[in-house]
Amino acid sequence: MIQLKTSDLDQIKQIAEEIYPHECCGVMVGLAENGIKRVTEVIPAENQRTDSLANRYLITADFLHGLEKELRESEQSVIGFFHSHPDVPARPSSYDLEHAWPWYSYLIVSVCKGQTEEVQNWKLKNDRSSFDPEELKIS
Ligand SMILES: [Zn+2]
Repeated sequence: MIQLKTSDLDQIKQIAEEIYPHECCGVMVGLAENGIKRVTEVIPAENQRTDSLANRYLITADFLHGLEKELRESEQSVIGFFHSHPDVPARPSSYDLEHAWPWYSYLIVSVCKGQTEEVQNWKLKNDRSSFDPEELKIS
């Protein structure tokens, strides 16, 4: 399960709508305890894909490494990622499957005509064959 504050979810939706019709992406930072991931901060990342901004996203290793370094002194860590799906449902694509890691949460925001349509949260199966829905609790 992942817990997200209403304000953090609103921030993700706002980023997704502002960047539409391109795909936004970013990192969810927080605390993981007893199987519950609690988001404390949402960090937008610039989409580093230059070929296909509308249906691909890429968070670079440099960006993640820098973030992990900043978080080292705190108890927080990277617990998941978010990105948007302009004009398609909030279900992971085959590209998403190829680029996902187990354990992390993958939040997808479907944006249709510039408006958020649905938000779904996913977690990769341990055998990496597909995603399972992961409970998203908004508080
Ligand atoms: Zn996707």
